[in-house]
Amino acid sequence: MNDKYLENETKARQYLARFSEEILGHVIGGETVPGKNSASMENRTPIDGTVLNSTAMGGAAEIDKAVTAATGAFTDWRDISGAARRQLLHNIADAIEARAEEISLVESMDTGQAIRYMGKAAIRGAENFRFFADRAPSARDGHHLPAVGQLNYTQRQPLGPVGVITPWNTPFMLSTWKIAPALAAGCTVVHKPAEWSPLTATLLAEIAHEAGLPAGVLNIVNGAGETAGRALSEHPGIHAIAFVGGSETGRQIMAQGAQTLKRVHFELGGKNPVIVFDDADLERALDAVIFMIFSLNGERCTSSSRLLVQASIHDRFVESLIARTERIKVGHPLDPATELGPLIHPDHLAKVCDYMEIGTAEGAVIRAGGNPLDHDRGCYFPPTVLTGVDNHMRVAREEIFGPVLCVLPFTDEEEALAIANAVDYGLAGYLWTRDVGRAHRIAELLEVGMVWVNSENVRHLPAPFGGMKTSGIGRDGGDYSFDFFMETKNICVATTDHRISRMGLSD
Ligand code: NAD
Repeated sequence: MNDKYLENETKARQYLARFSEEILGHVIGGETVPGKNSASMENRTPIDGTVLNSTAMGGAAEIDKAVTAATGAFTDWRDISGAARRQLLHNIADAIEARAEEISLVESMDTGQAIRYMGKAAIRGAENFRFFADRAPSARDGHHLPAVGQLNYTQRQPLGPVGVITPWNTPFMLSTWKIAPALAAGCTVVHKPAEWSPLTATLLAEIAHEAGLPAGVLNIVNGAGETAGRALSEHPGIHAIAFVGGSETGRQIMAQGAQTLKRVHFELGGKNPVIVFDDADLERALDAVIFMIFSLNGERCTSSSRLLVQASIHDRFVESLIARTERIKVGHPLDPATELGPLIHPDHLAKVCDYMEIGTAEGAVIRAGGNPLDHDRGCYFPPTVLTGVDNHMRVAREEIFGPVLCVLPFTDEEEALAIANAVDYGLAGYLWTRDVGRAHRIAELLEVGMVWVNSENVRHLPAPFGGMKTSGIGRDGGDYSFDFFMETKNICVATTDHRISRMGLSD
């Protein structure tokens, strides 16, 4: 272990100490609400299974209190000027940057994600706030739609209190991606973080309040999905749910919200293809294939978990892939040299291991990795490559959400598209070719919400982010986020004394 790892470890222990002192409560109406009298759950690090903290498991009562606080704070927050809102959100971004080291070390310990990526994720969280801060003053702007004798113009108005429900993979960054646009739009928020990674949500609430966010504008309720999450999605005071998580949970939230006709925005699972043609820059393609499945432990919605490689280069490409995969450094997430840390939880590790049995029973061949690593009771699973995979196998169709890459050969464009589109998911697709016409043809026909051509996932914040099919409903990013968190109102003003049909004039 190197010096930087030891320094990280010492600092992480210092930052985490406060969480072990008392049960992690909720943040409601600007106050920390202790979880003393309610049930709590132990939160363990996946690094070695030691307990980091106990988390209060809130339920319907805490959600109701948080919705009351968010409702009380709404009008004042809606009515502050765009300039003041912009300044406040920039203050939050400044404070995130100032505490980026703390956020990333705590998140690495909580989730097992390697610090080399978590440092960037904390900064990305600040960027999300800055991006939406700058757009806050114009969020309400509408269109001017003149017609003969009338002027139509539109305004956007914030929905009111909204719910945000997030998963455990890169939880800090993902929560800012929802919370920043909601606040910029003028909504107030009740956030329910994932129970396996609760810590940085509390840090965000603390940072936001220290930066001057008024009480009640951002509330956090910790708890289980089936209780706190359910209560939030059923609550009549919540106008919309922005949800990031699994497709099955999305179905449940849609059903739970049906009674109150909840507006929903879903970012769900993926089984994303990366298609490599033999005319591609194969070295760059290999770098991107490896990065997009093994970074963030493969616990990434946009991971390229299916490699579709043209038969003419299949063997050569797979050999290079395996050689590189076997050299990926698996280790303690606080070691800067580590490329792949432990998976989030023993249950998730067991799920990934199960897929190895399912895959091999169906005829897939494990060419790299495949067995959990014995590391101090940590949830370590190596980068894994499965070949001989056929599109009908479960490993080719279901989201494993771990560092497991399935390789499927194809002969031509038509077959590549057929394989790529033959899954229920439709989040992202990656395409490697030097043939410009082919790139456009395939990009158009891929049944996914986002296509990257000759690139890994590089996010541009104004661009739409989201999926088709069972990967989601709606888009995030730029103005798309405001469309979700705001109502568009049309106002029609007559500019002439036009003829009005007259009724009730008969004798
Ligand atoms: P999950 O669906 O199990 O949980 C996500 C959140 O939903 C948690 O906070 C959980 O407590 C809550 N929840 C669970 N049941 C609920 C219910 N009935 N009502 C309300 N809330 C409920 O997902 P996870 O295992 O935490 O995260 C992994 C999943 O998230 C993967 O499928 C991954 O692809 C997906 N994901 C998608 C994106 C995207 O942008 N498309 C991004 C990240 C993660």
